[in-house]
This record gives sequence, C-alpha cells and structure tokens, in this order.
Amino acid sequence: MSTLSLYNTLSRKKDEFRPLDAKNVRMYVCGPTVYDRPHIGNARSVVIYDVLYRLLTHLYGEKHVTYVRNITDVDDKINAAAKHNGETISALTERVTGWFHDDMAALGCLRPNIEPRATAHIAQMIHIIEQLIANGHAYVSQGHALFRVASFKEYGALSGRKLDDLIAGARIEVESYKEHPGDFVLWKPADAGDDPSSVFESPWGAGRPGWHIECSAMSSTYLGAHFDIHGGGADLMFPHHENEIAQSKCADPAHNHFANYWVHNGFLTVNGEKMSKSLGNFITVKDLLDKGVRGEVIRLVLLSAKYNEPLDWNEKLVSDAKLTLDKWYRSVGNSDLGLGISTSNPQSPIPNPFLNALGDDLNLPKAFSLMHASAPEELFAMGKLLGFFGVSADEWFKGDGDDGDIQAQIDARIEAKKAKNWQKADGIRQNLAKNGIILEDRPDGTTDWRRA
Ligand code: AMP
Ligand code: ZN
Repeated sequence: MSTLSLYNTLSRKKDEFRPLDAKNVRMYVCGPTVYDRPHIGNARSVVIYDVLYRLLTHLYGEKHVTYVRNITDVDDKINAAAKHNGETISALTERVTGWFHDDMAALGCLRPNIEPRATAHIAQMIHIIEQLIANGHAYVSQGHALFRVASFKEYGALSGRKLDDLIAGARIEVESYKEHPGDFVLWKPADAGDDPSSVFESPWGAGRPGWHIECSAMSSTYLGAHFDIHGGGADLMFPHHENEIAQSKCADPAHNHFANYWVHNGFLTVNGEKMSKSLGNFITVKDLLDKGVRGEVIRLVLLSAKYNEPLDWNEKLVSDAKLTLDKWYRSVGNSDLGLGISTSNPQSPIPNPFLNALGDDLNLPKAFSLMHASAPEELFAMGKLLGFFGVSADEWFKGDGDDGDIQAQIDARIEAKKAKNWQKADGIRQNLAKNGIILEDRPDGTTDWRRA
C-alpha cells in the first residue's frame, strides 16, 4: 500500500501517517461559522481537506474513515449578523448552512461523515468545563468560565508561543475577570437582549460557550479523546487549536492525548493579504459560479498550489484552470471511455507515481503535472480520485457558454439548408467554428454539436 506523510505542525516536520486504528481512521476539521456566504478562502480549506479525505478513503477504504467537520452555529459574529439583518439566529444559521452546502457541493466536495452543530452539543461542552473547573484548570469569574493557561505546562507547544510572550503581547488592558492575560473564555454570560436561541443555561449562569470549547466537545463526542488528524486553516493554529489542545488534554489528565497530526492549510491571499470578510477583499464562491465559472475550475484553482503555502488569487488562475480542464475533458472524451463517463468508476488503476505524489504531504502540483502527461484512462482515474470529472465530457463542453444561442443558430442553419440556401448554411457553420463549436450532421437530419 502506498504510504502517506503529512507535515505535522506539532512536530514541525513531515511525519509518516500511522493511524491509531486502520479500520477507523479519524479526522476532525474545523468547519464554518455560519453567518455569511463562504468566500473562496473558506472554500480553499474545505477543498483541501476534501482531497485528504478522498485520499484516506482510497488508502484505507471508504468504510474505514470517519471525517467530522462541525458547523459553528453559536458565536458573537452570528449574533451580530442576525441583529444586523433583523432576523432570528436560527433563520440565519439555517440559511447560511444551506448556502455552505450548496456552494461546497458545486465545488465537488463530499459531505463529511458527521457534521455536528455546536448548539446540539452544549451539554458536552458544559461537561468538559465542569471537569476543567474540578481539576483546577479553569475558574469562574464574573459570569465567565475561563481556562487557566498557567496550569497547563504544554501551553504553546503547537504554535510555538510562550506564556511570557502572551503577557508581553497582551493588548491594551486585560479584562478584569482574567487571572492571566492569556486565559481564554470557556463560557460567557448572555448580554441583555440576546436572541433566546443563543442563550443556554449553565451552572455558571445563562450564556453561551466560547468557540474553542465547541470543537473539543464535538471532536471527542464523535472521534473519542484520541484521534488521528485535526485540520483547519493556518489562522486557527493560535489561539483556536492551541486552546482546543489545552481543554481536551486537561479535561481528562489521565488521558494525555488529543489529535496526533495537526494539519494546517495556507491562506488564499489577494495581493499577498489574507482573503477575509473583515478586510473586505473577498469573493464568494457564489459570485464566481454566477459569473459562469465552473465549480471544477474553482476547485482546480484552489488546489493548484502546495496546500500549506499561500495561494495568491488572480483572474489568470481561472482562465488557466479552465484551459487545463478543457484539455483533460477533451482527452477523456475522445478516448474509448467515450460518452457517459460521468458516473462510472475509474476503470484503470491509479498509477503509483501519482499516489506517491499525493502521499508525499499532498503534493498536488506534482500530481497535476503527472496528469498532464497521462493517457486518458489514467488521467480519468486520477482526476476522479481528486474529485474531478463530475460530468461527462459531453456535458462539460455543452454546458459551456450560451447553449440556447448555439441551438438557435443550428436551427437557423437547418432552415437555410431546407431552403437550399447553402451559402447561409455554410456561413453559420463557419461562424460557429470560429467560436469553437463543431457541428456534426446526422443522417436523420438533426445536427449535433460539441466544442473543439
Ligand atoms: P471562518 O468561517 O472564518 O471561521 O473560517 C472557516 C475556515 O476557513 C477556517 O478553517 C479558516 O481557517 C479558513 N479560512 C478563512 N479564511 C481563509 C483564507 N483566506 N484562506 C484559507 N483558509 C481560510
Ligand atoms: Zn475548531
């Protein structure tokens, strides 16, 4: 079996991947906070873990991988957005979750095996916080429950930050309820006027959980206290993942484990700056789809750089990816695989050099270069593994551009031929050919078309 190595943020090197249980490989990835439509930076993270998930299922078998990706549906940003829109929190989170599903499906992403929502796991969060308080790792102050960072010797091991730096770097004034500036919120009190669906009862009063505790609770609920891979964007390394580790390890000190491999995807950037809602430099997936950019084209762009390096967005990436996919679909469509390939499984075994490239810390640039040099059958099998070739070659080319207009011209040409106006009929044919549309007349008098 091919091997897999992953750059592990925790060990700061490429580690060979050895699952705790090859019959149940477990991966948790931090999912979206559902307050607005996902942008293509968010999508980069989802698409990258989708490829890792597909690779894991290829290596270990579909039934032997459990992929959990949460939905954060309780958060300050959600409260603020619901208030701003004048809608209830549940209406907002339902709608945005639907958008997220639609947009990620358009990019060819599989759904995770389990997609827990934070609001359905409040009891588990409260339980962990109670454990932390009982064993001295957390305290209650002014309606807040806080994690006591000084109580956890390993704090900072993932991100490489030191507690002393946290004190020195503490911004402006430290909240009065904190013992230490690095202490983070496990539970915060409700504000007057909060939407009741964001307010939960707890032993420390009505309020809502902190973001970090959500992931500790949901990962352990579905994957146990010790699992294989934890993923997310590079921005989550600190404080989010550092805090998840602190909570999860300290809740049950007898069980000093959490995730073995910490994987972080690089940012999608715009002019070198992280794409983000707050900077306003974002493009949503929906914006691109509405402009007629195909989901697979966006997918290829988002996978085109090394997954843990930045990828700077520009329009040329889109046109290049489109040309590549056209080439691949043409190759596959012209081969014996022929028509109707959309749902068939890869016939051809996946070549080892390609699996080795993916197994080498997901070296996608290398994997794509191998695809460029491959025969159609292999190309198809490789593309399928990466979540491409979601439609048949025929659909790919026909779905391009304005089909209605093309059909109208074909109809006009048939009329011209009936009227024996050969010059007009030929003119239409040539005009379409100039635009890359090849016509094929059928014996029954109809005309089929494809892109050149
Ligand atoms: P958020 O909804 O902001 O919590 O982000 C959801 C996921 O998208 C997290 O894993 C983030 O790390 C990731 N993410 C956000 N912005 C970017 C970006 N510009 N490039 C890559 N990943 C991002
Ligand atoms: Zn998380």
